[in-house]
Amino acid sequence: MSNEIGKGMLVVLSGPSGCGKDTVLNCLCESDERICQSVSVTTRAPREGEVDGVHYYFISKEEFERRIENGEFAEYVRYNDNYYGTLKSEIENAVNAGRIIILVIEVQGAANIIAQFPDAVSVFLMPPSIGVLEQRLRKRGTESEQTIRKRLEIAKEEMEKSRLYKHVVVNDELEKTVQTVHDILKFYTSEQQS
Ligand code: 5GP
Repeated sequence: MSNEIGKGMLVVLSGPSGCGKDTVLNCLCESDERICQSVSVTTRAPREGEVDGVHYYFISKEEFERRIENGEFAEYVRYNDNYYGTLKSEIENAVNAGRIIILVIEVQGAANIIAQFPDAVSVFLMPPSIGVLEQRLRKRGTESEQTIRKRLEIAKEEMEKSRLYKHVVVNDELEKTVQTVHDILKFYTSEQQS
């Protein structure tokens, strides 16, 4: 895979668990048909309502390790005792089709992608505060107390790495956040055309 972004555009969106990345992503995908989401592969168990092939490709640890051996991942990490990874094919297919593909990934994976694709647009979504993040995680009600604690610890570490990103957007009001990210993407697409 070359470093060329080609016809499409590669976007990395990160932010601590519970900061609203998925909601922002859904709004962006609805707002523009060129925008699509990269479906990651994970060994984590599906949460209620999550669909294989839509939210993630859910596979076993053995299968994930086989795919690492095969060189199928553009990046992968072990996070919270599970593997998560982006398939090279997801990026290539979307970029070759001229689409704006958004990778919603954690900071280590984002750093790997930014190193391979320096032209990638990177956005870090920041919660208004750790307190607000904790409230959102609890409201979601899908995780145990232990997992929530662990996710908050990871969140603090991730927020310290936000300086690696080209843009940091505070997710205070959903509508405003989506508009800001949309404007950022529009800026780069118009730059590509000029
Ligand atoms: P969750 O378990 O909440 O769905 O995801 C946990 C974290 O893993 C989130 O920060 C999410 O953005 C990140 N993540 C999801 N898919 C990938 C991936 O393919 N690669 C990397 N590096 N992180 C991912």
